[in-house]
Amino acid sequence: MKGKITIVGLGPGNKSMMTQEVVNVIDNATDIIGYSTYIKRIKPSKNLNLYSSDNRDEPQRAKDAINLALEGKNVVVISSGDPGVFAMASVVFETIDNGPDLWHEIDIVVLPGVTAMLAAAARVGAPLGHDFCAINLSNNLKPWHLIEKRIRLSIECDFVIALYNPRSKSRPNEFRKTLDILRETCDDNRYILFAKSVFSDEENINIIQLKNAKEDMADMQTLVIIGSSLSKVIIRNKQDFFYTPRVSI
Ligand code: SAH
Repeated sequence: MKGKITIVGLGPGNKSMMTQEVVNVIDNATDIIGYSTYIKRIKPSKNLNLYSSDNRDEPQRAKDAINLALEGKNVVVISSGDPGVFAMASVVFETIDNGPDLWHEIDIVVLPGVTAMLAAAARVGAPLGHDFCAINLSNNLKPWHLIEKRIRLSIECDFVIALYNPRSKSRPNEFRKTLDILRETCDDNRYILFAKSVFSDEENINIIQLKNAKEDMADMQTLVIIGSSLSKVIIRNKQDFFYTPRVSI
C-alpha cells in the first residue's frame, strides 16, 4: 500500500502560532520526521514514532520520509515557519524529481505555516507593507557572488529585504559583507530590524539604524529586515513601530 507525505510548517515558535490544520495533522500523526530541534516541539505519545535527524542532512531526511511512505505510512515532515520557505518542502520535491518513477506515485500535501519574516514583521508593525524580497544569506547552496548581486540589485530597486540564516559561528562573513554593502549604498539612518526567536520565550526585538548596526546582532535564530529608503519608525503610545508606506514616489 502506498502512503502519503504531509509537509507541514510549525510556525515561528509557540504552538498558538500553528494553523489549526497543522495542529490536527500532528495530533493524528503516527510518524513524524524532522530536524531534532523541531522534533522537540512535538509532544511524544504512545502511538507516535518520532524520527529526529541532523539539520545538515536534509536530502537523507527526505529519503527517509519517502521510504516510510513506500512502506504505507502516512508520514508528516515538519519544518519551522513555513515548509516552503528555505525548508523541507523543496527538498522533498527535489529528491522525488531525481528519484525512480515509483516515487512519483507518492501522495504529497504541503500545509503552510507562519514564516519568520511575517512573524517578525507583525511584532514591529508593517515593515513589509510595500514591495519586498527575501534572501537566504547562507552560502551552503549558492556562491557569495550571487548573494551579493541579489543584495545589490534589491537595494537598487529599493525593496525591503528580509534576510534568513543571516549569520552562524561557522559562517560569519556573509552578514559582515552585507553590512559593508549597505554602508556603501544606503544612508546611515536606514532602519534594520533584528528579530530573534520571535513568538518564543527567548524573543528579542531590536530596531537599529545602519550607523549603529553590528554584525554580532544577528545569529541563526535571528530574522533581519532591512528597511527600504521609505521605511520609517514612529513612536505611538511609547512603542516603536517600524513600517513601510504603501506609496512610492
Ligand atoms: N522555514 C523557516 C525558515 C528556515 S531557515 C520559516 O519559514 O521561517 C532558518 C532561519 O529562519 C533562521 O536562521 C532565522 O533567520 C529564521 N527564523 C526561523 N524561525 C525564527 C524565529 N522564531 N525568529 C526569528 N527568526 C527565525
